[in-house]
Amino acid sequence: MRSEEQQQAVAEVRAIYAELAYRPVTRTCMARTKCCQFQLTGLTPQLTKGEALLAAKGFRATGRKQLPESADGACPLLQRATGKCMIYADRPFGCRTHFCDAAGGPYARKEVIDLIRRLEEVDRQLGGDGPRKIQAAVAAALEEI
Ligand code: SF4
Repeated sequence: MRSEEQQQAVAEVRAIYAELAYRPVTRTCMARTKCCQFQLTGLTPQLTKGEALLAAKGFRATGRKQLPESADGACPLLQRATGKCMIYADRPFGCRTHFCDAAGGPYARKEVIDLIRRLEEVDRQLGGDGPRKIQAAVAAALEEI
């Protein structure tokens, strides 16, 4: 994949996240990271390819190379020492919209369907094959950047 293509994809994903932040739907993430404990929630974020590229770039920007093993079933991007997301500013769409009661509950799909379609379009342009679980999606993206 060409680097120009990656840059365009990442810029579009950032624009989608920025637009989400201005949606008139009250959600307040307090970074409690309960939603990062997949073994507790039973839910794992699924990332399109553009989201995974942005997450991988955010991860590399922390100076790390490979995703850490996650033996406890939590997200590999959750820093155990601090209890914080390593890529909070670049966290995926699902981390911004899904299932956290403390933040106000999940978005209804109809509230963000246009943004989901745009993420799917970026995925298609990058030759992706649809959303993948965060661990596999980010690991694959790290191989490409
Ligand atoms: S990417 Fe960050 S916010 Fe999303 S589940 Fe992982 S640690 Fe939590």
